[in-house]
Amino acid sequence: MEITFLGTSAMVPTKNRNHSAVLLRYKGENILFDCGEGTQRQFKIAGIKPTKITKILISHWHGDHCLGLPGLIQTLEKEGYSKTLEIYGPVGTKKRIKSLLGVFDSAKTIEIKIMDIKKRKFFENKDFLLEALPLKHGVRNLGYCFTEKDRRRINLNYVKKLGLSKGPLLGKLQQGKAVKLNGKTVSLDKSTYIVKGQKISYVTDTRPCRNALVIAEGSDLLIAEGCYLHELYERAKEVMHMTAREAALLAKQSSSKKLILTHFSQRYKKTDVLEKDAKKVFKNTLAAKDFMKVKV
Ligand SMILES: [Zn+2]
Ligand SMILES: [Zn+2]
Repeated sequence: MEITFLGTSAMVPTKNRNHSAVLLRYKGENILFDCGEGTQRQFKIAGIKPTKITKILISHWHGDHCLGLPGLIQTLEKEGYSKTLEIYGPVGTKKRIKSLLGVFDSAKTIEIKIMDIKKRKFFENKDFLLEALPLKHGVRNLGYCFTEKDRRRINLNYVKKLGLSKGPLLGKLQQGKAVKLNGKTVSLDKSTYIVKGQKISYVTDTRPCRNALVIAEGSDLLIAEGCYLHELYERAKEVMHMTAREAALLAKQSSSKKLILTHFSQRYKKTDVLEKDAKKVFKNTLAAKDFMKVKV
């Protein structure tokens, strides 16, 4: 699993930071969390083809999280995007995208499936699960998490000792099914083991709240906004954002393993001060930079 930070700025971009966008690559999926203005150019600089995108998850409809959509869609049309582009977002997303795409002349050559998220678990396949819950930002805003499913693997040493090498039988074991060898049932506990799936959560533009905690719970990686230093706590409360230290507290309370801060206010030229502030509460913290890649 690979995460690429394509934009780490809050409402106003800076010389070194573009608006919000995070790409998660997993097997054949390329899931884009938010699509701030200029995101398609960030793809170019990162050397990733935007036609690889499979799903776009919009947290909310403030411009810094969605204004990159029209340009990106126009480019996908031009590049002959052949998949069905899935766009998810809070209730109202369908209506907003339709009016957004109605503003300019579009070839309308690509298929777009837009979904307003109305329930927590909104996507599931054999490999992973996507969930969303409303946060506290004064407008409809969703926190997201991606949870990889646990996988059963074969304990090769054990099955070798048993002399079990037939593909179909190993396949059955991997599916957790009972297998008999010379009339005896092969122990599933000994012949296989479980690899725990990873969890990535994305919590931005919110005050700390119960749903943020639920979304972040037990994350291997929590991506959260660290918009301000704690000295601007009152400001953060007023505009319904989190300080870096509050993001750290969220990481700690949710028993997350790692925290990466993003969505930084333009007032901070360098973000190491925010990282330092958060580390007082949660050590395993990193401040994201545009184009930073992280393997999970
Ligand atoms: Zn924002
Ligand atoms: Zn916002």
